[in-house]
Amino acid sequence: MSQLPASFLALPKAELHVHLEGSLEPATVVELAARHGVTVSEAEVAARYQYADFRGFLDAFKWVTSFLRTPQDYALAAERLFAQLRAQNVVYAEVTLSVGVMLWRKLEASAIFDAVDEAARRALPHGLRVAWVVDCVRQFGPGAAMDVARHAAQWTKRGVVALGMGGDELALPAADFRAVYDFARAAGLHSLVHAGEIGGPQAVRDAVEILGAERIGHGIAAVADDAVMAVLIERGVALEVCPTSNLRTGALAGLLAKQDARIEEHPARHLHERGVTITLSTDDPPMFGCTLAGEYAAALQMGFSVADLVRVARNGFACAFLPDEEKTRVVATFDESTR
Ligand SMILES: [Zn+2]
Repeated sequence: MSQLPASFLALPKAELHVHLEGSLEPATVVELAARHGVTVSEAEVAARYQYADFRGFLDAFKWVTSFLRTPQDYALAAERLFAQLRAQNVVYAEVTLSVGVMLWRKLEASAIFDAVDEAARRALPHGLRVAWVVDCVRQFGPGAAMDVARHAAQWTKRGVVALGMGGDELALPAADFRAVYDFARAAGLHSLVHAGEIGGPQAVRDAVEILGAERIGHGIAAVADDAVMAVLIERGVALEVCPTSNLRTGALAGLLAKQDARIEEHPARHLHERGVTITLSTDDPPMFGCTLAGEYAAALQMGFSVADLVRVARNGFACAFLPDEEKTRVVATFDESTR
C-alpha cells in the first residue's frame, strides 16, 4: 500500500465532516453505557460496528447514540473526539451535532450544547478550533427539522455555523425542507445537506437548487451526471468525500452497481479531475474503522498524487464556514506550511 510522506502528514488539516455521535470509540461506549447501568463489552460494540448496508449502519448509529443522554456524556464524547483530531494535526474541525436525535429523544439540547461548547473552548488553547454543524434527521420530517433549525439559530454567536441534514436520504424529498433551509439562511447559517450518498445525482442537484446547499455531504452520485457536476463547479459547491464510509455503508457498491466494490474504484479522483471541489473526511471514524490520515492514504490508492492531496487538504480550509477574514488567514497559514 502506498505511503503518505511524513511532510504531508505533518501539514495542518481541516476536518469538515465528522459526527460527534459517530465518533465514539468502543471503550468510550462501554464507559457511557456503564454510566447508565448497562453492561456492554468492547467486543460487543465492535460487533455492532459491523453491518451489511446503509440501513444497518443507521441502526448501529441509533444504538450507539442511545448511550448519549446527559450533557456530561456529550462533553466526554467531545473531549475524546477533539483529542483524536489533535493527534492527527487537525487544527480546524466542523463537527456535526445531531440535535435532531437529541430532540427526538427528548434530551436537554440547550444544556448539551453548553457542555460541548465548553469542551470546544478548552480545545482552542491546544491548537484545535471547533465550529459546529447542527444536524436534523430527514426521516423525522420538516416539522422536527424546523425545531432543530430554531435551536441552531440561537447558537450562531457560539460557534454554530451551519444547518445540516442527515439520516435516510431516500425518506423525503428536498422540497419538503425548503422552508427550513430558508429560515436557517435568514438566521445567518450556512447550508449543508447529506445527498448523493445512497441517492442519485438528482438528490445532489435538489440539495443545491432547492435547499441552497453550499457544501454537500458525500455527493458522490454527482459523478454519474455531467450536468450535476457542472452545477457544482459553477456554484462552487464542494463535496465532503468520505471514501471509507462509502465503502462500509455500501454506498460505493450501490453507486458502482457491484457487490465487491474496492476503495480504488471510488469516484473521488474522477470528480477532482473534472474540476469538482472535494474535501476528504472521516464521517464516523470508529464506526468505519478509519482515520483522516487513512482517508488520504486511500486517496493515494485511487491514483491521487501527493500534490493533488495537498490541494485537497487546502480545500478543507478554503471551503470552511469561517468568516472571510479568518478563512483567508487559515488558508495562508496552510500555504506557508507547504513551503
Ligand atoms: Zn455524515
